[in-house]
This record gives sequence, structure tokens and C-alpha cells, in this order.
Amino acid sequence: MNYNKKTVKDIDVKGKKVLLRCDFNVPQDKDTLAITDDKRIRAALPTIQYLLDQGAAVIACSHLGKPKNGPEDKFSLAPVAARLSELLGRDVVMAKDVVGEDAKAKAAALQPGQILLLENTRFEKGETKNDPELAKAMASMAQVYVSDAFGAVHRAHASTAGVAAYLPAVSGFLIEKELEIMGGALADPKRPLVAILGGSKVSSKIGVINHLLDIADTIIIGGGMAYTFAKAQGGSVGKSLLESDWLDYCNDMLAKAREKGVALLLPEDTQCASEFSADAVPVLHGARSIPDDMMGMDIGPKTIAAYTAAVKGAGTVIWNGPMGVFEFPSFAEGTRAVAKALAETDAITIIGGGDSAAAVAQLGFADKMTHISTGGGASLEFLEGKELPGVACLLDQ
Ligand code: ADP
Ligand code: MG
Repeated sequence: MNYNKKTVKDIDVKGKKVLLRCDFNVPQDKDTLAITDDKRIRAALPTIQYLLDQGAAVIACSHLGKPKNGPEDKFSLAPVAARLSELLGRDVVMAKDVVGEDAKAKAAALQPGQILLLENTRFEKGETKNDPELAKAMASMAQVYVSDAFGAVHRAHASTAGVAAYLPAVSGFLIEKELEIMGGALADPKRPLVAILGGSKVSSKIGVINHLLDIADTIIIGGGMAYTFAKAQGGSVGKSLLESDWLDYCNDMLAKAREKGVALLLPEDTQCASEFSADAVPVLHGARSIPDDMMGMDIGPKTIAAYTAAVKGAGTVIWNGPMGVFEFPSFAEGTRAVAKALAETDAITIIGGGDSAAAVAQLGFADKMTHISTGGGASLEFLEGKELPGVACLLDQ
């Protein structure tokens, strides 16, 4: 996959109407619909501001939630328009539809330096089907397409990929940074490349493990998935998270690592609990000798020492998946130690995955990382080496 794509800096937008796909899929209060975290709106500001400063008229669009049956008030982007207007300190015109009369009229009247927000793209059934008619209708309102919705690039939808067939398509600054740092680390990493993989399930990370085994020098396994590996090696894992269907896969990956000369590190010791509870008292056991009535909740001190040592020597670290149940303070130690090691290294450090990003932020290390990917599902598919339709559709450099 080619990550070298044209950006807003490579195209003249002065006096033009720019269709800008943002990721405004923000969390909202169920009852009041108030935006509970405006991080995604803030993240879009640099590209919006740049386009407005260049004299473009910006027609922004996004999906929000999962409306299934056309327009529904609770999925309206109106709260986003209000917040965006506050953050930009200027009016944001809100359209009542996506490609209907209102959107078309407002887009036609839009002047350079002004911004219009279309309604939720998923109010149109054709959005998730990547319907060419919808893509064409969206494209017809603008002369340039800019995508900055990294969180949605793994989806081939009308507004994330389809429109690029009808307009010159470039990336905004968010996608540019994702491609430069994450793409750079995958395509031509500063070595050694250490990948740290954790989280809950092997089954949700099979593609990631498999792909990273092709490119990493060291792979570190932690979190809930480590117990399926431990079991595959003949260990006892008690009541730990176990995916019995994936034992053969784990053995295949261990064999692939040996074949490729990739160091694959598994936990030596593990902090256990008698029940899945925040109040449980950690008890240390060997990672392959967990008693029947106990479950592994976090990596232990020997494992922490080995993993942080591996991070110290790295040129690049890619981290996806917490080392333990970090949501419970008693079992956040492994995740904290690894986050601290990443914060202290000079290596390029990249965090991918929604819960991993949340863990790093919660533990206070967010500003110490080179890059925290803004897409959950998109960054996973990126790590799997899959082609991302919302990136592939952009013009090559
Ligand atoms: P990401 O969103 O970063 O890709 P995942 O969704 O794969 O990460 O996994 C995150 C979840 O994994 C966290 O909620 C965490 O509590 C859980 N987890 C980590 N270690 C364990 C464990 N030993 N047992 C059960 N759950 C675990
Ligand atoms: Mg997750």
C-alpha cells in the first residue's frame, strides 16, 4: 500500500469549494445529546483553519453514530456545528440534509472563508453502500475533496472513498500525520522495531500479529491474549481469558517467529485474581502455572523488567493493546510500566487502538508519545497491513 499521498498543501484551494470529510463521530450524553468529549472536533481544527485561511469555502461532512432508517434527530450533527462554531470563533452554517435542496442551496451560496456542515452522511442510505449516485451528488457541490477522517478510512463509503472518483482528492493534516508516522513505521521503520501487543483477545488481533511478524524485530505479547499463548505452550492458565479455538494459531505464530528470527516474548509471571473485580488482591504466579481457581489480570514484575528492557533498545515501538486490566488500579502496573518505558525512550513511539490510547491518556503519558493514532478500527486495519479504501483513493504524491 502506498502511504505517500498528496495533502492540502499540494493543491490550490483558493476560491474553491472544498468537500472536507471529518471524523465528527463524537460521544454524546444519551439524554441531553451534549458532546461529552470534543477531542475529534478539536483534532479537525488545523485542517479546517488552513483551508479557510487559504480562501476556500469549506463544506464539512461526517457520520455520527449508526442511524439505520434515514434522518433521526438524535443522530443530527447540529450539536457538532454548535461546538465547532465555538472552537473556530466563527459561524458554522448547518444544512438540514446531506445532498438535498437545503444542502445544495447552502453549498451554492457559500463564500470563501465560510464553513458549512452537512447533515449526518449516514442519513443517506447510499453512504454505507458506497453508492456512486450519492458520491456524485456530494462531489457536485465542490471542486476539491479533502479527507481528514482517519477514524473512517477503513470503510469504503460514499463520503470516505466514493467521492474521490469525481474530485481531485488529497489528505488533511490528521491523515497526513498518520501516514507519515504509522505508515513510515510499517514501511521503513527505524530498527529495531518492537511491537507490543496486548488487549483482551487473540482473535481480534490475529491479523495484526501475523502482519507484524513479517516486519518487526521483536514482538512482545501481554494482556488477555497471553493466556491463550501460555495454554498453547502446555501451561495451566486457570480461569484466565482463554480462546481455545486459537491454540493452533498461537503455535503457528510461535513457529513463524522462530522461522523469521523474530524474538517473540511471552510473560514469565502474572498478577492473578480470584475473581474479575477491582477489589481483588493481586497474587503473583508463573505465567504458565496459574492455579485452577485464579485468573491472570496483569503481567508480573519479571515480565515488566524484560519488556521494558526490550523497549529501551528499540528504534521504533508500536503498541496496541494494554498489558492487563488497567481499568482496575491494582492491575494497571504492567500497562503503566510499559507506558513509562515508552515515555522515556528516544525511539519513535506509536500507540494504536482505542483502549491503548485511553490507557496511555489515563496514566498520564499521552504527551510523551510520538504519535497516538486517532482511529480505533482504522489503526488496527493499518497494523494488519490492509489496504485502507479512504487512503487508497487519494492522489499519489
Ligand atoms: P485496543 O482497543 O487498544 O485495541 P483491546 O480492545 O484489544 O485494546 O483490549 C483492551 C481490553 O483488554 C481492556 O479493556 C483490558 O481490560 C483488557 N485486558 C487486558 N488484559 C486482560 C486480562 N488479563 N484479562 C482480561 N482482560 C484484559
Ligand atoms: Mg478496544
